[in-house]
Amino acid sequence: MKDFIRSDFGIDEKVIGFCNEILKNLEDRFSHIDQNAEYNQLKVVSAFQKEKISAEHLSGSTGYGYDDAGRDALERVYAHIFETEDALVRPQIVSGTHAINLALAGNLRPGDELLSPVGKPYDTMDEIIGIRDCPGSLREYGVSYRQVDLLEDGGFDLENIRRSVNEKTKMVTIQRSKGYAVRPSLSVDRIGELISFIKEIKPDVICMVDNCYGEFVEKTEPTQVGADIIAGSLIKNPGGGLAPCGGYIAGRRDLVESAAFRLTSPGLGKEVGATLGVNEKFYQGLFLAPVVTASALKTAVFAAAVYEKLGFKCIPDSKSARTDIIQAVELKTPEGLLAFCEGIQSAAPVDSYVTPVADDMPGYDSEVVMAAGAFVQGSSIELSADGPMREPYAAYFQGGLTWPHGKLGIMKSIQSLYEKGLLTF
Ligand SMILES: *Cc1c(COP(=O)(O)O)cnc(C)c1O
Repeated sequence: MKDFIRSDFGIDEKVIGFCNEILKNLEDRFSHIDQNAEYNQLKVVSAFQKEKISAEHLSGSTGYGYDDAGRDALERVYAHIFETEDALVRPQIVSGTHAINLALAGNLRPGDELLSPVGKPYDTMDEIIGIRDCPGSLREYGVSYRQVDLLEDGGFDLENIRRSVNEKTKMVTIQRSKGYAVRPSLSVDRIGELISFIKEIKPDVICMVDNCYGEFVEKTEPTQVGADIIAGSLIKNPGGGLAPCGGYIAGRRDLVESAAFRLTSPGLGKEVGATLGVNEKFYQGLFLAPVVTASALKTAVFAAAVYEKLGFKCIPDSKSARTDIIQAVELKTPEGLLAFCEGIQSAAPVDSYVTPVADDMPGYDSEVVMAAGAFVQGSSIELSADGPMREPYAAYFQGGLTWPHGKLGIMKSIQSLYEKGLLTF
């Protein structure tokens, strides 16, 4: 039998031996990940069956998209999975940022205030909120914003949160994944505690969770611990790698409806929106999502374990429980970060032959290097990495549609650093 790992991928004996040794210690972690995947797989199949999904649901609509049975049933399937009254799952939602904007802008009105009790949200939220000036921001429409940072140890600053909730506070935005920030991601349990605390202060406040990268990582979702509405991207976990675009919102019926009025038009809401043949991919991607998410998680845990052993700081570390699929590895030098991204790129099924280089990016104050060889452009449930070219030269990576491919990507990244003399065993 041909030995691909040595002959076609040029991975050194030492790298292979080192990685396989580490893998032996990950059996318990992987088994836990598989158990969650099994639970979530059954959750998804059960939702499909409750809605009696059939061949007619897999085709789509054109034009206005009235009476699109597949679209409407898919939204009920999402509602079952997240245990919510309703959901909005659409190819017209262009990204996670768009989904979050619909949830917020659809439900906030002039004079209302939005509170983030978990520090500064994801970069692209700056313009939505108006932290950075932008036409059409919430700020421009008279919605004010307040923020309470996490404590130094990552805990909630309960005293300041209590003081910040006032008569204007209409919505609270909670980000589950750390994204590119240096704080821990929030487990579903911790999100639940925070929501309980806030609702004790003000029961009618609407709690929104940015669920990006978190779907199917745990057995429960934020809507099962008190979140009124959640939002996310279909080119991350719930699209299972097959959704070619799209985003979702799930939550209380009235809140989802207001978001739908914002997406299409007041009066039209969820009634319109052609699906143009994507229903099949949305369904099949959702069906695969629990196992795809598990593959991405195994890849992240494996990477943390090998890089930690090689003396690089990993966030989260290889022992921590996970609530999202993002892994950061501090490579310490510009050469290290570039070599890491080259390794990931060289394992890709698409564009494996290109060499990632650092370049300026809008919204960043330093150059950024990115590795992506994806079927769906920008998809970050597929194996991908990026990092800003500044101290501590951290690579943020995520994804891996299959565990064997994720493993190859990490081994290629180690091979790349090894060849350049940037690590020793
Ligand atoms: C990815 C992500 C978003 C949205 O990003 P898009 O690129 O617009 O899909 C928002 N919040 C977090 C934490 C994310 O990881």
